[in-house]
Amino acid sequence: MIDEQLISTVGALRQMLHSLAEPSGQEKQTKSFLMEFLCHNTTLHLEDNGQWFCAIHEEPGADETIAFRADMDALPFGDGAAHLCGHDGHSAVLAGLGLWLEGRTLGRNIVLIFQHAEETGAGGEICAQALKAHTVDRVYAFHNIPGWETGAILLRRGTFACASRGMTLNFHGTPSHAAYPESGKNPGFAAAHVISALPELVNSGRWQGLTMATLIGAQIGEKAFGSAAGSAELWLTLRAWNDTDLHTLAGAIEDTAETAAFSDGVRVSHTFCDIFPAATNDTETLDRVEQICREAGLTCIEMPEPMRWSEDFGYYGAFAKAVMVGVGAGLSWPQLHTENYFFPDDILPQTLTLFSALAEHG
Ligand SMILES: [Zn+2]
Ligand SMILES: [Zn+2]
Repeated sequence: MIDEQLISTVGALRQMLHSLAEPSGQEKQTKSFLMEFLCHNTTLHLEDNGQWFCAIHEEPGADETIAFRADMDALPFGDGAAHLCGHDGHSAVLAGLGLWLEGRTLGRNIVLIFQHAEETGAGGEICAQALKAHTVDRVYAFHNIPGWETGAILLRRGTFACASRGMTLNFHGTPSHAAYPESGKNPGFAAAHVISALPELVNSGRWQGLTMATLIGAQIGEKAFGSAAGSAELWLTLRAWNDTDLHTLAGAIEDTAETAAFSDGVRVSHTFCDIFPAATNDTETLDRVEQICREAGLTCIEMPEPMRWSEDFGYYGAFAKAVMVGVGAGLSWPQLHTENYFFPDDILPQTLTLFSALAEHG
């Protein structure tokens, strides 16, 4: 049982973090505030890793180590930043678990990972290394999810959140005088061919799950009416329930672009950015999480589909058995990343119960 005192301490901490909101990669004050809070209020061993940190509960003779991860970053908003994804709540609850661990003997070591830069996918890849460094067996995290019953634990077998990445295609041709287009190599047509081929590439029906290519934007040449285009760029976001489909789709787009470029006598190259592997739950560990949640009196709901958005928690699965669950933020709560959104403190009891029950039994 989580006592009222802990819930109100974590609520106050959450509001403090809310007011500190800093964008991805700039979580300086947030990180030092959390470290100071844990230093004053717990005996956890703090490991400072620069942009992020771990707080460690060590038990002599423990035969396993489990980890919990929370993200600390906010989103750019106006002139500053705002916690429009509720990461202030995730971090406050993780610090709350630190308070709860005080004086307890559980038979396992517990590593609390306070991660920077989730929104850009840059933090997960780095912080997942903590799992290797501390020989972690299992790692847990939660994300609050509007549109679902307040405090319900949302379980998903297989993929929890989609793989995604930004793809930039660069076409290089030869510019020419607009009056003599035949003396140049205009790459705009190859770029346009790729755009028009996207629906068919995506709808080819050979995917294991939802697979998407979203056209984000394009630039062909310059707005100078005396010159025909000599270069073109296409920006796509690829998204899929699983990593294999995402790679296949990227390969198919690459092939289509190369064929189109070749036939027009232009060159094409590509780069990727904002790379998120699929966040895939370990099946056995998820079964265990479900049982622990039910025994702790939490409401469990099976999610019929993965979240379409991505979570850089996907990187953690490479180093330990990983499970991420959703926690319902309320049926009519504003959507994530919208300006009226904030983390609902009403779900602090359930999220603290979730983490403490997993620390105790998981
Ligand atoms: Zn977000
Ligand atoms: Zn988020």
